Amino acid sequence: MLSPVAIRDVHASRGEKVQGWLAIGETPSGPLRVPLVIINGNEDGPRLCLTAGVHATEYAPIEAVMRLVHTVKPSQLRGAIIAVPVTNMRMFESRTGFTSPLDGLNLNKIAPGRPDGSISEILADVMLREVIGAAEFHIDFHAGDLGEELYPFAGYSLTGRRDLDKKGEALARAFTPRLISLSTPDSAIPPFAGSLNYAATRNGVVSILAEAGGNATLEEDDVRVHVEGARNVMRHLGMIDGQHGPNGHRVAARDRIVVRATRAGLLRLTARIGDEINAGDELGEIRDVFGDVVERVCATGSGIVGLIWAHKVVNTGDPILRYWITEPA
Ligand SMILES: [Zn+2]
Repeated sequence: MLSPVAIRDVHASRGEKVQGWLAIGETPSGPLRVPLVIINGNEDGPRLCLTAGVHATEYAPIEAVMRLVHTVKPSQLRGAIIAVPVTNMRMFESRTGFTSPLDGLNLNKIAPGRPDGSISEILADVMLREVIGAAEFHIDFHAGDLGEELYPFAGYSLTGRRDLDKKGEALARAFTPRLISLSTPDSAIPPFAGSLNYAATRNGVVSILAEAGGNATLEEDDVRVHVEGARNVMRHLGMIDGQHGPNGHRVAARDRIVVRATRAGLLRLTARIGDEINAGDELGEIRDVFGDVVERVCATGSGIVGLIWAHKVVNTGDPILRYWITEPA
């Protein structure tokens, strides 16, 4: 890495931490911009990009990136951090989940975007070419979105390029407290095609997905998963001092299965995030409006409860929870 680090007019000389804004386009009320922080360490090293708020109601990851940019000191850093605490500001300020209110697009489903597309497509293009593309390594921080409780995991999209994939898996392992999701283009586990992770890896950036938190909550435990995970990645890359903790018991995702309601009513779920379930286990019950149990919801296989939809009323076909099928890793 050579100093300085500059993205447009945000310019950090060696040993400097600077912040600024990147213009993406405009709306009638003014420019649409992305907040950017560059921390340029005192010594040479890798460039790591941190992005949060692609889904801007995912607050634990946003808080984690804010905290990281405040606590990482250039004097203790080898290489550089390029950070975007909130990628989608319009979703952030309007507390909108999943899709942009400007064009209805989900930024994590349209990558690599296009410079001549709608505003979210332009945003994806700028992020990939100018921000993520300015680094060799990248972490995209997420959580469950509105109405989703989530079990923490880290993911990487395999490219078939051995050198890249080895680094990607190592980063995901360094980040995750337990569950790792290594996807192939046709697998049913994330990261998926259309995500920033997927597009970044195809551009040669070692890019991982980091997930903890959910349902528009901001819990310290979730923030800590992200902050510690990012610090472990930085230690792994030799950017900050210290050994990353023992890797512990890791499991790898093979598949994930959604359990759905067949009947309708008020759902009383007894299963919790992270529960290890087995086929036939009762997960909860659905009662009709008269209080009679119309369905006992049972596990269809064995795995780890990875996502719970927070809705308490279900109709036929509604998702209730999703579990990971895993193997030792
Ligand atoms: Zn997300």
